[in-house]
Amino acid sequence: MSYKLFIPGPVEVSAKTYAAMTTPVFGHRSKDFVELYNSVQPGLQALFGTKDPVFISTSSAWGVMEGAVRNLVRKKVLNCCSGAFSDKWFDVSKRCGKEAEALSYEWGTPVDPADIRAKLATGDFDAITLIHNETSTGTMNPIREIMDVIRDFPEVVSIVDCVSSFSAVPLPKDELGIDVLLCGSQKALALPPGMALFSVSQRALDRARELPDRGYYFDFIEFLSNHEKGMTPSTPVIPLIFALRSKLEDIFAEGLENRYTRHSALNALVHAWVERAGFELLPPRAFASKTLTCVKNNRGIDVAALNAGLKQRYNCVIDGGYGKLKGKTFRISNMGDETEESIRTLLEQIDRVLADLGTGA
Ligand SMILES: *Cc1c(COP(=O)(O)O)cnc(C)c1O
Repeated sequence: MSYKLFIPGPVEVSAKTYAAMTTPVFGHRSKDFVELYNSVQPGLQALFGTKDPVFISTSSAWGVMEGAVRNLVRKKVLNCCSGAFSDKWFDVSKRCGKEAEALSYEWGTPVDPADIRAKLATGDFDAITLIHNETSTGTMNPIREIMDVIRDFPEVVSIVDCVSSFSAVPLPKDELGIDVLLCGSQKALALPPGMALFSVSQRALDRARELPDRGYYFDFIEFLSNHEKGMTPSTPVIPLIFALRSKLEDIFAEGLENRYTRHSALNALVHAWVERAGFELLPPRAFASKTLTCVKNNRGIDVAALNAGLKQRYNCVIDGGYGKLKGKTFRISNMGDETEESIRTLLEQIDRVLADLGTGA
């Protein structure tokens, strides 16, 4: 059974990407591998907006999210919490045995740079975690304004998750002064799950070198020394690296600016539908994500029935709300390879299912 995914991850994977994954593997210490590894670096560095290496981890994003805490938190970490993923990062920091404090907001409320300034000014912290695009609530945090604040605190290493926004909106790591920028494969990049990508600043690597108990699998210094040989610390998920190489071709064939514009236009289509259909966005409009839409179920529709109808009649699925927002919201992704046609078609299908449920606009 296969159906088209409009959930905010994993998202729909193209036939070209799947085909790339069937390339026969070779040894991960071979010249062929080094060639493959090095071939994706320039594209990745352009996407990350960085001169630093981009490391490839065989794990989902959480591996690197946890690893960053282990590698970089010496004194205390400030976890910005405003949704399921960011709340979890606070929990994970404590599970790693680190001193941690949550800067908490209602789900759907963006993180306020002034609050970060007040917290960091205490001098208690040497690291901060931030989720750029909180996928659970469809909220995009004001990264420029936030980084303008964090850069005023040289002791504080910034760890930024862009799992569901990477390559869909500009996020120039070096220009913004982000120390660790990380993403996973199965969301904005539209690859199958199983791989994470991350780039680490020189000063964060210097910090990591001084910290004990970094473990092995996610040790940033292991990643660096292997990177210098065009390799990864352990056997990587080579088929996904073939998929990544193929996806980078697609991204640069489309052009970065065109890709950003497409995501923004598709997102605007969904927003216009939300208004037309009498729904509201969960976050304030100015902070609404560009890669997915979290719709408040202010009309009290049966979200589960809507999704069941979409699946049965049109062979596609949206998301019925994450965690405590299940049924109170629903989410529609416009990540990856979506087009004006695919989004318009989905919105028409949603209208038809809602009409049949007797809850049409
Ligand atoms: C999905 C997601 C994660 C977790 O990704 P995994 O692949 O499940 O590890 C982390 N952060 C954000 C913002 C996400 O959307």
